[in-house]
Amino acid sequence: MIVIDGSEGEGGGQVLRSSLALSAVTGQPFTLTKVRARRAKPGLQRQHLTALKAAAEVAGATIEGAEVGSDTVRFAPTKLRAGDYVFRIGTAGSATLVLQTVVPALLCADGPSTVVVEGGTHNPMAPPFEFFDRVFLPWVNAMGASVTATLERSGFYPAGGGRIRVSVTPFASRNAIEVTSRGAPTDRRVVARVAGLAGAIAEREVAAADAVLGWGRACLRVETLPRDQGPGNVVMVEAGFAHTRELFTAVGEKGTRAEDVAEGVAREALAWLATEAPVGEHLADQLLLPMALAAGGRFVTVEPSLHTQTNAQVIGRFLPVAIDAKPADGARWELTVRV
Ligand code: AMP
Repeated sequence: MIVIDGSEGEGGGQVLRSSLALSAVTGQPFTLTKVRARRAKPGLQRQHLTALKAAAEVAGATIEGAEVGSDTVRFAPTKLRAGDYVFRIGTAGSATLVLQTVVPALLCADGPSTVVVEGGTHNPMAPPFEFFDRVFLPWVNAMGASVTATLERSGFYPAGGGRIRVSVTPFASRNAIEVTSRGAPTDRRVVARVAGLAGAIAEREVAAADAVLGWGRACLRVETLPRDQGPGNVVMVEAGFAHTRELFTAVGEKGTRAEDVAEGVAREALAWLATEAPVGEHLADQLLLPMALAAGGRFVTVEPSLHTQTNAQVIGRFLPVAIDAKPADGARWELTVRV
């Protein structure tokens, strides 16, 4: 039995999600103690509980500690099962983070699957749907799988009610990836989206983001969703290149000025653009797991975050992979995954 101390390193939900996916794929049971000990509200929250139950369904696992607030979880898988799954978080908890658990597992199943997750689709501290779809999945597909995702309905905190549908065809081959440069720029945009809020908020946001980025009007988009999908507001700054793509996100909150929301995310995008690294901070931690399950590879990124370091350690508990990070030139780092 693998025993993981959930308070080590980053100490958040990713330790649980990665452990679930790795256990489901390798068949090794695990116990996770001190679940999310470094978070303000430690223990399992709805999103993590949904991920646990989802992984149990996908891996035919028996589970212990499956309740909100639980600080210890046991997971013992039997066999990965392809299938048609629906997982409902029941709150605005992040649907993409539940997908972060089950999609890597289903990449290694014996047939295609469909997965519907209901919950939040644009959450703070989680990948928004567009990041999952346009930044993360293309790399998973480059590794030899075929995964497509559709945003059927947006869901924002606190109402939730969003829905993402994913179709997963497992690895047909397992390819290493090499991401060492961005290539020429192809497209860029700032999207400000509102649901059930005044369109003027989104107008102010794209203007504020453009004051920082200077990309010009042709790159600015205001999108208004039906009122019943709100209230909600998100600003996304996206930059595409021949070899890579990144997307930076800020979720609007009551009490935070629209200009502050947009300027913050625009500055984050500018900072990454200045590094010339093809892979940003969040994509770096998310690529490690599918790379370890496929054939590894190499990518150039920014200085590894605690999420990246902790995820590498968790992967090393389940799989005989070597993950190394070394400084490259400028602000860039090179991460290598050897399987
Ligand atoms: P945790 O904090 O342990 O629940 O993990 C959060 C996960 O969400 C990590 O994989 C982060 O990289 C990812 N994440 C957080 N914020 C963003 C963002 N703005 N864009 C993409 N991914 C994100």
